[in-house]
Amino acid sequence: AWNFSAGPAALPEAVLKRAQAELLDWNGSGASVMELSHRGKPFMALAAAAEQRLRGLMGIPANYKVLFLQGGATQHFAQIPMNLAGPDAHADYIVTGHWGEKAVREAAPYIDARVAATSVAANYLSLPPRDTWQLSKGAAYVHYTPNETIHGVEFHDVPDVGDTPLVADMSSNILSEPVDVSRFGLIYAGAQKNIGPSGLVIMVIRDDLLARAGRPMANIFRYAEHAANDSMLNTPNTWGWYLAGLTFEWLEEQGGLAGMGERNAAKATALYDAIDGSSGFYRSPVEVSARSRMNVPFTLHDSALDAVFLKESEAAGLLALKGHKAVGGMRASLYNAVSLEAVGVLVNFMRDFATRHG
Ligand code: PLP
Repeated sequence: AWNFSAGPAALPEAVLKRAQAELLDWNGSGASVMELSHRGKPFMALAAAAEQRLRGLMGIPANYKVLFLQGGATQHFAQIPMNLAGPDAHADYIVTGHWGEKAVREAAPYIDARVAATSVAANYLSLPPRDTWQLSKGAAYVHYTPNETIHGVEFHDVPDVGDTPLVADMSSNILSEPVDVSRFGLIYAGAQKNIGPSGLVIMVIRDDLLARAGRPMANIFRYAEHAANDSMLNTPNTWGWYLAGLTFEWLEEQGGLAGMGERNAAKATALYDAIDGSSGFYRSPVEVSARSRMNVPFTLHDSALDAVFLKESEAAGLLALKGHKAVGGMRASLYNAVSLEAVGVLVNFMRDFATRHG
């Protein structure tokens, strides 16, 4: 089947096959990687190797730490303000969809979370023009969502916010193209789209932010503690860490993020071309300049056909095309593990469907 799920999402077949082959006997240990102590030498070596691969792929500078955390991106909506600011601080949020809204809501108990820009009035179908942003003086950080998974809206460059640290929720576009990490103070992402299984969060955080006092909190919430303990302050998600390492290795074989970026651009172009070239049978509601390469929402000209489209697409082996309930219609997620071939199958199905129902 061809899986277009928004997350948890398709993983590279090669990664799954390798995990399957190693499932009962990892590294000659006679046990599954899930059954080994995270403090044992073999797992520690696996963990360090995964971090090194990620550093290589993203070009992470030496003054950034990489953390392998839990709690999902949602937990870090709250934990980031706890760590980066004291009780009297404020932070700016650029809100371009559902997840940005949620980030503000979850931060609000811990910081004066100000919406410095929003495209809510445009139903999150475009990005707020840069000249409407009201960044405040002395903000602890600026938070934004480079790719909004539900609305299908993506920034195609990194916003310039001056000296204020930029915090990015890259849950749905991390590792999808080359990135200049030095432009960010903190990058975080739930793993369940471009990295591995859910239950793992990857965080890349600059040393000066790690050194901030934040507010009083238990050690388990403090990023500096996790960094000081190599993300093994408590038992990490060992299975997720292992699979992430396999995905990083696979990414290297794909030509790294440059190779992945080219493939992702080709996939998105193929699908948007099919939508735009369908004489109105399909429609992409998002402004062209803000269209996401990762999540492509689209509608059919007659919503009465939605159920038929979903039934027939599933029968054709095209999975999880139903749009999020907040937006309706369809959504195809084109994460790294979705091949150009899979997009070709989808496009052919869509053309055939339009011919039969047009
Ligand atoms: N941020 C973005 C951009 C997402 O797409 C999601 C959804 O999966 C989340 C945050 C929430 O992630 P989690 O369910 O891991 O907390």
